[in-house]
Amino acid sequence: MAQGIPDEVLMNTALIKDLADVAKDAALLHGVLMRAQETPNSSELVSYAPFTLFPTPVPKAVFLQALAVQTHYNTLVDMISQDAEFLQEALASTIEVDGFTARLFRIHQQILKEGRSQSIVLGLNRSDFMLDQKDGQAASLKQIEINTIAASFGGLSSRTPDLHRLVLKVAGRLEESQRILDNNPAAGLAGGIAKAWELYGSERAVVMFLVEENQRNIFDHRYVENELWKRNIRTIRRRFEDVSKTGNLDGNKRLFVDGQEVAVVYFRNGYMPQNYMSEQSWDTRLLMERSQAVKCPDIGTHLAGTKKVQQVLARPGVLERFFPDQPQVVEQIRATFAGLYTLDMGPEGDTTVKMALSEPDKFVLKPQREGGGNNIYGSEICQVLEGMKDSTERMAFILMDKIHPRPVQNYLLRQDAPLKVSNCLSELGVFGAYVRRGKDMVMNECVGHLLRTKSSEHSDGGVAAGVAVLDNPLLI
Ligand code: ADP
Ligand code: MG
Ligand code: MG
Repeated sequence: MAQGIPDEVLMNTALIKDLADVAKDAALLHGVLMRAQETPNSSELVSYAPFTLFPTPVPKAVFLQALAVQTHYNTLVDMISQDAEFLQEALASTIEVDGFTARLFRIHQQILKEGRSQSIVLGLNRSDFMLDQKDGQAASLKQIEINTIAASFGGLSSRTPDLHRLVLKVAGRLEESQRILDNNPAAGLAGGIAKAWELYGSERAVVMFLVEENQRNIFDHRYVENELWKRNIRTIRRRFEDVSKTGNLDGNKRLFVDGQEVAVVYFRNGYMPQNYMSEQSWDTRLLMERSQAVKCPDIGTHLAGTKKVQQVLARPGVLERFFPDQPQVVEQIRATFAGLYTLDMGPEGDTTVKMALSEPDKFVLKPQREGGGNNIYGSEICQVLEGMKDSTERMAFILMDKIHPRPVQNYLLRQDAPLKVSNCLSELGVFGAYVRRGKDMVMNECVGHLLRTKSSEHSDGGVAAGVAVLDNPLLI
């Protein structure tokens, strides 16, 4: 299986059909679930979350490299979030032209002016990578992005290992089935939340999941909620609208929602412009940010996860600013950077434009957006860049080298989709959790992984966007 699933298995139609049936039932049994698209706010209609029939081979060395760098990424994000001067400089051009980032930045400025009311910081992030595998060369681990807000699938990915173990056993591949790794990001993410809750120091206080209108992926959240309930920590789920109606701060800036004190606000919403349906949503974000509740993420940490910050970090000398005495950490982080290029006005940005226009297939053009489906590829890069190459509009984007993983054949199991073999590309995510109080890092951990796989026909899009599906690495 070192090169993928052997053809005698992949092309055995009868076997594949049997395996797919077994796999779908196992997904339901193990709780790899999603609500129906038509009724995202009810659990009356539920099916399996999409996943691959087989796990995907991943070289052990790069997998371990991704895990090993995670605590350094945690530290880096945390330092950036506290460095107002760095954020100001890095985002200056972006916020001139990108209204969404500008609004987030304004909240950040406001809090700096007023002073922070909470010294406890909770970070739950997911750093995503792809393997660059040029012909004949060894796979090289490259970061695609880091998600510092609402990073999802830590819950469902805790349940997928048993699924693939079973499929491999039924396929007669016992040895491989024993090599599927355990994975439990839900417990690790909840561990971070529980730590922050404990430091907040009020037994009555709740953890509030700030959730979207569309709650199709609720089971992913429920795993984290359940881990908290196991520790006797109360959790509630509220939307912006709910908090705006019943939320308020007391004289000590403690946050109350429906009369319940909130120790931790865990954002599973608020990462894209459409999440703020009215001015009230923005007011509510500011209200929560001002409060004593621990915010996951706080506004500085949210901004630290922007693509513009990622591009600035890749400039010579910038990582050294954060790790002045740790050249080996700098090297470990930098080894995972792909080429990232500014589109700011000036000669450097002009060079980026020329480079992109002459070889568009080598790059990805990225706006400051989250949630999949926003990037621009190939000939569309030329169309978009031609239209804005001499305008400040281009500063809302960054350019990135396109990563080329080697395609692997697999079956993507998705409700009502035909069972057919696809050429697939995978993206490895690594979950990080950390808690800081004042200057003390109280917890800094790598808490699990997520492999997502999509057909190579699609250049973009995650699981929630309906393109990628859940997967597991099979280390080779
Ligand atoms: P988002 O925050 O919307 O998830 P990403 O940077 O993760 O933004 O991009 C979305 C998807 O686009 C990724 O999951 C990946 O499939 C694809 N993608 C992004 N950057 C690259 C890249 N440099 N090379 C190849 N594919 C990429
Ligand atoms: Mg993202
Ligand atoms: Mg992404």
